[in-house]
Amino acid sequence: MTTKKVAAKKNTPETPQLSKSALKNAIVKHLHSTLGTDENKANNHAWWKATCAAIQELVLEGLRKTQKSHYFNDTRAVHYLSAEFLMGRLLSNNMHNLNLFETADGALNELGVSLADVLEEEPDMALGNGGLGRLAACFIDSLATMEMPAIGYGIHYEHGLFRQEIKNGAQIERPDSWRDYGNPWEICRPESTQEVSLYGYVETKYGDNGRIQKEWHPGSIVKGVPWDIPVVGYAGKTVNVLRLWQCQSSAYFNWDVFNAGGYVDAQRENVQAETISKVLYPNDETQAGKELRLIQQYFFCACSLKDIIRRYKRAHGDDWSRFTDQVVIQLNDTHPAIAIPELMRILVDRAELDWDKAWDICTRTFAYTNHTLLPEALEKWPASMLEKILPRHLEIIYEINHRFMAQVEKKWPGNNVVKAKLSIIEESGEKMVRMGNLSVIGSFRVNGVAEIHSKLVKQNLFPEFDQLWPEKLTNVTNGITPRRWLKACNPALSALVDKKVGADWPTNLDKLSGLTASASNKAFQKQFMQVKRNNKIALAKTIKELTGIDVNVDAIFDVQIKRLHEYKRQHLNLLHILALYRRLLENPNYDMHPRVFIFGAKAAPSYTLAKDIIYAINQVAEKINNDPRVNTKLQVVFLPNYRVSLAEKMIPAADVSEQISTAGKEASGTGNMKLALNGAVTIGTLDGANIEIAEEVGDDNIFIFGLTVEEVEALKAKGYNPHDYYYANAEIKAVLDWLETDFFTPGKPGALASVKHSLLSGGDPYLVLADFEAYSEAQKAVDKAYRDPARWAEMAIMNTAKMGKFTSDRSIADYVNRIWNLTPCNVDD
Ligand SMILES: *Cc1c(COP(=O)(O)O)cnc(C)c1O
Repeated sequence: MTTKKVAAKKNTPETPQLSKSALKNAIVKHLHSTLGTDENKANNHAWWKATCAAIQELVLEGLRKTQKSHYFNDTRAVHYLSAEFLMGRLLSNNMHNLNLFETADGALNELGVSLADVLEEEPDMALGNGGLGRLAACFIDSLATMEMPAIGYGIHYEHGLFRQEIKNGAQIERPDSWRDYGNPWEICRPESTQEVSLYGYVETKYGDNGRIQKEWHPGSIVKGVPWDIPVVGYAGKTVNVLRLWQCQSSAYFNWDVFNAGGYVDAQRENVQAETISKVLYPNDETQAGKELRLIQQYFFCACSLKDIIRRYKRAHGDDWSRFTDQVVIQLNDTHPAIAIPELMRILVDRAELDWDKAWDICTRTFAYTNHTLLPEALEKWPASMLEKILPRHLEIIYEINHRFMAQVEKKWPGNNVVKAKLSIIEESGEKMVRMGNLSVIGSFRVNGVAEIHSKLVKQNLFPEFDQLWPEKLTNVTNGITPRRWLKACNPALSALVDKKVGADWPTNLDKLSGLTASASNKAFQKQFMQVKRNNKIALAKTIKELTGIDVNVDAIFDVQIKRLHEYKRQHLNLLHILALYRRLLENPNYDMHPRVFIFGAKAAPSYTLAKDIIYAINQVAEKINNDPRVNTKLQVVFLPNYRVSLAEKMIPAADVSEQISTAGKEASGTGNMKLALNGAVTIGTLDGANIEIAEEVGDDNIFIFGLTVEEVEALKAKGYNPHDYYYANAEIKAVLDWLETDFFTPGKPGALASVKHSLLSGGDPYLVLADFEAYSEAQKAVDKAYRDPARWAEMAIMNTAKMGKFTSDRSIADYVNRIWNLTPCNVDD
């Protein structure tokens, strides 16, 4: 591995490629000739499409030049395989990255159209659940910005993550149809369609040289049609591609196989091809375990590998010796792990390479990112399911495992405990294939996503793998793109930052530390907090539109936005809200600065307790917001349908960022970075990237509370009993008992009881009660700090100032240096 350093490229936007009048003409031209309407008839949706089409002209020009440069320079490229890309909206970001935002604003203004209204027409591309999918989106933005040859591969889901409605306090899931009226960014490439085999049986043959040959006779063949989404780098010339595969039925039916009688019931095994890319599984941090999900995974991996190999062969023919010089494949979690046996199948069965040679290529090609330690999220598939859907792959997995077990035997002779632990096959109960073990064994690098998480991956999840291959396990701390998460979403703060540190911070985020010098300057504090206040006024308007609630913009905006999960502990936040409510009822003069608690969260549709917590938040909100005894000091808002475009409105307005997961459970978090970058102060546990955020901003500029990873482990080892806390703390007891009455659900006593029971009879697996008191004290410290405006302003500024480390450009530079070994490619005219 070379140790050459690749720094984030420091581009600044050039003069716009188009004048205002040229852009105006282009928009009107598309309104006429692409959309068949005119300036008088066009509604905002038509203006949006016409504006996208005008911008896409420039994007495609950049794409063409980039592809030409990459081809002529025969560049090594990273192939980022991810089952999820949570892209959000593209128009605003593409305009910012092309330095055309102001121009477009002016052009549309002259046409009597509001750019802000036009931007609201764009549906989010919500092809992901949460952090993992958003990370993939930030990474491809950084790759293009840093001019790295890269391609993202994923699934062209017809329906992304469900749209959430709140009816009578409860979550209702509605289908998300993001491309019902067409998507102006995507380009279908039918010429690059791939075929994917499924089901069937494996025939063993003997070749001329006595070599055993395996031939897979599939029972079903489907087509993968690629849709390309251009990914525009900031101010750079690179436009990379996100290639998403759509599944279609194949007209081709393998009559040979049918006639050979190799399988019995062809129709039964024939999947409905269109269903394969129909929906995104809405589970975050849980394994779906469904056959269709495995087929989705294999489908996009097989299409992507064929595409990668086709491109390689165009330059290098059948010579495999340079494959690992040209190709590196990053597996975003184990979702694409089936690509490992698929590449082995191609190399051994089709290219007829020796096993050892093929395995050498494989283990120099793949690298794997682990995203979780939660047992319920670690993927495993029944061997019987793999045997049915991918019979040849199961054989290959057994062979990989057989050879690996010999290696384990050498290192730990006779140790069956270690063998059982490291085996790809779990033998206790139904035979299962562990995709995490397969990914570690088949990759040359394995990374966690924050320092603490990577340490726990080494110590708790894969300690023996670390002993076997001490160089393999590493860390790359996650990051976020500052183009979307500051420049585009918070124009007022961006303008203020531009004035203070110069305009090149979007590609050189360490420049933000230049704000430090002004953090205690009264005039700058005033400007910074005025920006925050205006953002709060804007969010208050959105809250009013979405919920009808009038919030007090002078209150502290306390924000918890993330998927709903017990480990993220929205219910800890809720218990504290109940405690505040109770304190205010008992003492109307209870001394606190007014606070608005704002939530955004989707729950997996099958995760009952998570949905119960959403219901509880909404019922408590309803009661508090309508209780005149408290509602000047305490308000609670649950904004429905949390997604990227809503995050972009909430984050700039946040004063407080809630990052309160049980220590050891949140691998990294990235919402924590987005909020801090926009001047929110974190109240959080020593978990995930919170630890690194605390290191950057300093202890004075963050509110850390609660058990550490070691303390959590010690408490669990000694035997945690939530009843101890329930009986010892009168406030805990009172608020939990309150949930069992009908106070929040008139006429329906017990409607919120499941939340209480999960914390008592349920054993409180995430130690909510153990951390309650520390959390409550930390919240008092937050309140006190906010009431000292100069202190608070300094803290907020310091948070923005110290976020340089968390640009995804730094994450990508780490991947390039430690794993991918890429060189940027200059895209010439
Ligand atoms: C950043 C982001 C997430 C991840 O949030 P965490 O707090 O890190 O879990 C989830 N959903 C959306 C829409 C995001 O933008």
